[in-house]
Amino acid sequence: MLSLTGVSVAYDGVVAVDGVSLEVPDGSVLAVLGPSGCGKSTLLRAIAGLEPVRSGRITFDGDDVGRLPTHKRGFALMFQDGQLFGHMTVARNVGYALRLRRRPSNARVAELLALVGLEGYADRLPATLSGGERQRVALARALAVEPRLLLLDEPLSALDAGLRERLAVDLREILHAAGTTALMVTHDHEEAFQVADRLAVMRAGRVVQAGPIADVWAAPVDAETALFLGYARVLTGVAADTVRAAAGDARAGRVEALAVRRSALVADEHGPLLGTVRSARATPELLRLVVDVRDVGLVDAVADRDTHWGPGEDVRLRVDPTRTAPIRGI
Ligand code: ADP
Ligand code: MG
Repeated sequence: MLSLTGVSVAYDGVVAVDGVSLEVPDGSVLAVLGPSGCGKSTLLRAIAGLEPVRSGRITFDGDDVGRLPTHKRGFALMFQDGQLFGHMTVARNVGYALRLRRRPSNARVAELLALVGLEGYADRLPATLSGGERQRVALARALAVEPRLLLLDEPLSALDAGLRERLAVDLREILHAAGTTALMVTHDHEEAFQVADRLAVMRAGRVVQAGPIADVWAAPVDAETALFLGYARVLTGVAADTVRAAAGDARAGRVEALAVRRSALVADEHGPLLGTVRSARATPELLRLVVDVRDVGLVDAVADRDTHWGPGEDVRLRVDPTRTAPIRGI
């Protein structure tokens, strides 16, 4: 298990990673999720031994690895652009680390190419591959020596949207099939959800919330985290209480705010919230409404495409409680 305790990193006295503690249990994939510039790459580089740690401890299975040079940590790294050797074939790229360790093995290379779905690509050069194929080669190369920890820095960010989604699913399956313990940093919550089991949300150098993805998603620690996780709106005060009551929300206790997903509020003639349509916009599937609800203010809602809500009309809204999450604050 990788374990970090109070790890800080600074560049010329400016703190980039500020007292980060986290754990990656064996065989699990942790996504460190945060906006650009929050210190994700710096954290990853510190774990890899590429950046000196100002304070704190990095251990693996109880051993203090923080003082070891990069190549003695037993970790592998994979970056956004894969960084393949352009003059080497796919097979030679994948076998690179095996040759370095004087353990070349064509059978192992073939096994890795099969793992990432690239049988038959052994003799190709990187320049003849698509972006997604290149990332698969980079992944096979990183997994070649069975690292005890794989560190991934935005591994899918350079790919276009459709491919990114497919490769995210593949990445998850490949990591699980290989039993790899991994830490991936990303700014994209969808990518984190698709690939990882656990999440650490990072902001301004600090981890603000961590846990299994479902737990973090079900109860974001604050409004900023909720919005970063993909919630569309955060309602506070009376608005939060009113919408919770309308949803028949039985989750106990007062909340500081309520995170609301897109399409959580639906026009329904029996709905408990009464509002007035401010604007309506038809999409091919739905009618998107902005509704002024008393005591709540303006909210986004949806209606069937074949209804004809227009500005000024009264509308009742139903709340889907599974599309809201309480924010309890700290
Ligand atoms: P992220 O990967 O989350 O986008 P980084 O870890 O790259 O963020 O950067 C965190 C902060 O550290 C940023 O303010 C960035 O400008 C700064 N930083 C990163 N690398 C260096 C460096 N080599 N020298 C000085 N400052 C750096
Ligand atoms: Mg980065």
